[in-house]
Amino acid sequence: YGDFSQKIDYVFKVVLIGDSAVGKSQLLARFARNEFSVDSKATIGVEFQTKTLVIDQKTVKAQIWDTAGQERYRAVTSAYYRGAVGAMLVYDMTKRQSFDHIARWLDELRGHADKNIIIMLIGNKCDLASLRAVPIEDAKEFAERENLFFMETSALDSTNVETAFLTVLTEIYRTVS
Ligand code: GDP
Ligand code: MG
Repeated sequence: YGDFSQKIDYVFKVVLIGDSAVGKSQLLARFARNEFSVDSKATIGVEFQTKTLVIDQKTVKAQIWDTAGQERYRAVTSAYYRGAVGAMLVYDMTKRQSFDHIARWLDELRGHADKNIIIMLIGNKCDLASLRAVPIEDAKEFAERENLFFMETSALDSTNVETAFLTVLTEIYRTVS
């Protein structure tokens, strides 16, 4: 063993937002630790997890924040958004209401965050295709209109989880480098 020290070139704060139970915590668990749990408890306490990766030969530490059960409207504090350079705006593609609330989350995000924040709209639980309640066209149209990236993901079977986070982190990198 030699030198454990690792030079970090960039730290990027990314926030997860969206209604309760859409899968925010499981997306983070999948990305940061490659884990998933079926009976995940409402998130309490843990503020963020980190994952270090290399983009364009630079070491980037992604610091990804998860709401601690504050998903009620306006309950997420401004400290949560402070310094965020990326956001994952998550709905459950089997729950129409969670998509209908996205505009509100986006308003709140835009009201609090830096104006150059990179935002990815995520339709999670795409493994439950037979229960789809949000047509992909609706989400694409919304994302185009609002200038957001968009992907459907599954934290359960891993579909697009890594790609979604990497897309946001790479785009952030391009704007700061
Ligand atoms: P949060 O409140 O947004 O953090 O949601 P959680 O991550 O706690 O997930 C809520 C529930 O949805 C849990 O029972 C998860 O196991 C389940 N879940 C999360 N992601 C997925 C997914 O991609 N597919 C399926 N089928 N279930 C998921
Ligand atoms: Mg949670």
